[in-house]
Order: sequence, then C-alpha cells, then structure tokens
Amino acid sequence: GGEVRFQAVDFGYDPRRQILHDLSFHVPPGKTVAIVGPSGAGKSTLSRILYRFYDITAGAVLIDGMDIRDVTQKSLRQAIGIVPQDTVLFNESIAYNIRYGRPDASDEDIRQAARFARIDGFIDQLPDGYETLVGERGLKLSGGEKQRVAIARTILKDPPILLLDEATSALDSRTEREIQEAIEQISRNRTTLVIAHRLSTVVNADEILVLDQGRIIERGAHESLLLAQ
Ligand code: ADP
Ligand code: ADP
Repeated sequence: GGEVRFQAVDFGYDPRRQILHDLSFHVPPGKTVAIVGPSGAGKSTLSRILYRFYDITAGAVLIDGMDIRDVTQKSLRQAIGIVPQDTVLFNESIAYNIRYGRPDASDEDIRQAARFARIDGFIDQLPDGYETLVGERGLKLSGGEKQRVAIARTILKDPPILLLDEATSALDSRTEREIQEAIEQISRNRTTLVIAHRLSTVVNADEILVLDQGRIIERGAHESLLLAQ
C-alpha cells in the first residue's frame, strides 16, 4: 500500500490568492518522488495538504485510491510518517519522544528503533529546554541528534508513506551523510515524498518534480533534469 495521487489540485490559504495551480502527480507504492523548488514555490503547502492541515479548493488527493477527505484524521496520521527539518521535542524523555505516535510500543521496540538511529545511549534523558522545579536541566541535543529522534520515531511507527523534509544545511557533513543513510534505509520500499531545495540532494528519487510559483514546471529523472539546467 501507500500510493499517493494528486489530481488537478488547486489551493489557496486565502480565496483571493491561489497558491497551488492544477497540481497532478502520482507516487506509486514504494517509489520516491522529490519535490524541488525555490523558497515560496509551495512545497510546504503541498505537504500540509497531504497531512490535511488544510483542505484543497479543487481536485483531489488520494491515498491508495481513497480521497483523503473520506479518511479519518487518525488513519491518515497513521499512514504518513513525517521526518521534519526541525524536530520539536516534548519536554519528556527521549524514549517518550520516540514512542509518540505508537503508544502501544514495548520498551524493547523503542530500544531497537533507538539503536537503528544510534541514539540508544541517551533515551532515558530529557531534552534541552527541560527544567525541573529543582533546576535539573535536560540534555542539549544537536540538530542531527534531534533528527535521529524523528528517525527512530518513524521506524517505530512504520508508516507506509514517508514525508521527508530535506535536512538542514546546519548539519556538519559527516552527520549529514549519516542521516542521509538512515533516511535512505527507512525510505526503501516505502512510498516517499521528499521536499528539497536543491536538485543535487535528491539523487535517489524515482521522479523529480520542479515546482515554481505553485506549478509543476518540469518533471523527470535526476540526470535529465541536471542536463536541462
Ligand atoms: P515553500 O515551502 O516552497 O518555500 P510555501 O508552501 O511555504 O513554499 O509557500 C508558498 C506560498 O504560500 C508563499 O507565497 C507563501 O507566502 C504562502 N504561504 C505559506 N504559508 C502560508 C500561510 N500559513 N498563510 C498564508 N500564506 C502562506
Ligand atoms: P497525533 O495525531 O498523533 O497527535 P500529530 O499530527 O501531532 O499526530 O503528529 C504526527 C507526526 O507529525 C509527529 O511525528 C509530529 O512531529 C509530526 N508533525 C505534526 N505537525 C507537524 C508539522 N506542522 N510539521 C512537521 N511535522 C509535524
């Protein structure tokens, strides 16, 4: 499962200003499609629509052939896992943060997910920003470590569809490579939408859509788009 289809989607936050125009694309089960484009192109808007934070004004978004307006919010959230650019953690233990989204998970499941994401050394600690009444402070996590928490959470949730927001450039290159590898592994055999700013970072996509001002202006494989540049 996990097929995603956008059919002639129109959207605007405000009825007087349309943001997405007649957007159509298809992500077959298990495939990866990257959406690339400059700031303001509509990439985040597209992902918010998939998660149904907003409803579209025309067209349809289908998951496994079902209009997402006919799916409960709960099952939609179970179907889609998000690894966002900036992971915001709850002021609870790292283990709690990993468990979020699958409350029934066993401690062993959590340890396994944490091991995969290589954060098993500190799952019992509390994140940065946490401070108890007696002044105990949480562990300061780097951007890369926070993303690993999001990766562990996604592994545990095991959703058929993955929505990836490209890693921030704030990561050092070794961390970035490690995170990329982990992400590559979790997106394998999972229907994946990658939101990216640069074409160079999405070599593993089966198809790339270039979005500009809310329209798909080009689509194709990585090499053909690089040649066209
Ligand atoms: P991208 O993710 O490609 O940078 P966005 O989807 O964030 O693009 O933005 C697309 C357009 O929608 C921009 O013109 C932006 O100003 C507008 N926009 C984004 N979020 C909102 C919002 N919550 N309310 C109104 N307009 C928004
Ligand atoms: P729930 O219905 O289980 O409370 P949420 O919608 O709050 O689920 O979150 C589900 C997942 O999506 C979590 O991993 C959360 O971090 C992520 N998420 C929620 N909202 C956003 C957002 N605006 N941007 C990126 N990730 C988000």
